[in-house]
Amino acid sequence: MRIGYGFDSHAFKRGVPLRIGGLSIEHHSGLAGHSDGDVLLHAITDALLGAVSAGDIGTFFPPNDPRWKNADSSIFLKTALEEIATAGYRIGNIDTVLVLAAPKIVPIAGDIRARVAELLGLKPGDVGIKAKTPEGLNQDNVAVAYATVLLEPLKEPESTVKAVAAADLESEMDEVVKSLVNNVHDTSALGKKSTPFDTDDLT
Ligand SMILES: [Zn+2]
Repeated sequence: MRIGYGFDSHAFKRGVPLRIGGLSIEHHSGLAGHSDGDVLLHAITDALLGAVSAGDIGTFFPPNDPRWKNADSSIFLKTALEEIATAGYRIGNIDTVLVLAAPKIVPIAGDIRARVAELLGLKPGDVGIKAKTPEGLNQDNVAVAYATVLLEPLKEPESTVKAVAAADLESEMDEVVKSLVNNVHDTSALGKKSTPFDTDDLT
């Protein structure tokens, strides 16, 4: 298994649409950024890329590239999912923390969780969305997101496959030994002189 960790922050800006976790949220301000400023999807994207040591969001989508102006951040997430699949992994579960003064996340946390799960191809139960207000941090005009992911291998590791094969072989040998022992018992059941059981006879 592998773990990944991601962080992102964006400043609030009046009159810009607010996108968090792939959802459009009613608010007087949105998050300023070259793309749609989706702080949560950016943190998750970085956690995924980091888990397979594939760089970060800026490596794939440089902020000075005009193609990513106002881009839907789910594109970044999709690329990160392709990277982990190419590396031979899939997501086990994911946990996140949002830190922002407003809007209140609790009433919409379920919707954000469902949307993030959908974008990642996970069950909502495999996605954690937690929100905190930035008490004492003096950053009420900023939204911050942290994300941790756990990746599982798509296939069983080679060593596990070998161990299972060895165990199968062992149980096959047990069967052979058992049938030889039974043969010895069968001959005695036919009324012949009972042969004392001797393990040397089985070699
Ligand atoms: Zn960002």
